[in-house]
Amino acid sequence: MRILVVEDDPAAARAIAEAISQARHNALAAASAEHARTLLNTEPIDLAIVDLGLPGADGFSLVKRLRHEGRNLPVLILTGRSGIDDRVNALDLGADDYLTKPFEPRELVARCRALLRRANGRSSNLLEIGALRIDLRSGRVRIDNRDIDISRNERIALETLCAKAGSVVEKNELATLLACDGEELSLHAVEACISRLRGKLGNSVSIRALRGIGYRLDESMS
Ligand code: CA
Repeated sequence: MRILVVEDDPAAARAIAEAISQARHNALAAASAEHARTLLNTEPIDLAIVDLGLPGADGFSLVKRLRHEGRNLPVLILTGRSGIDDRVNALDLGADDYLTKPFEPRELVARCRALLRRANGRSSNLLEIGALRIDLRSGRVRIDNRDIDISRNERIALETLCAKAGSVVEKNELATLLACDGEELSLHAVEACISRLRGKLGNSVSIRALRGIGYRLDESMS
């Protein structure tokens, strides 16, 4: 999944991005609310982690604006402010969760996982489609109770396709999600990754290519 980190302190932004990428998510950084809005308008983003104290417009006004525009992506506030008024305000303006600094990376990641789960209409960390089971916490992938060995990129692509099963995931979106050190993957490399994934998944699920658009994962009919 792709997570936007809105944080003006470079050290905090690095620590958050590190925790996110260890959990196999892709982090995108913005140091101001304005930059965050630009990214939200141009990039596929599944969740935002927002600091309250930002240069220019603050985190409160960013959340308020997003909800006013009808954007329903999950928002987690991560701030040094622990006052009850700030907490209540942020949640009432439309934030979904509130965590104070200093934070425990494991807790931040678990909260992101819970928010992403809910946003995708699930209440557990287990994704099950036909004979395929993915544990989003451990990253373990099993088919008919047999462990499948897959690479980082294959896992990210599979988790994305499964989380959006039955819907098309654009090839460009996968290229962005699989970016390594900020370098977007080529469309050819995305195709190669999906092809390897198909080989490893066998008949457990079907990943259909929609010409010029992307891929759709469905429960296998066979
Ligand atoms: Ca700040």
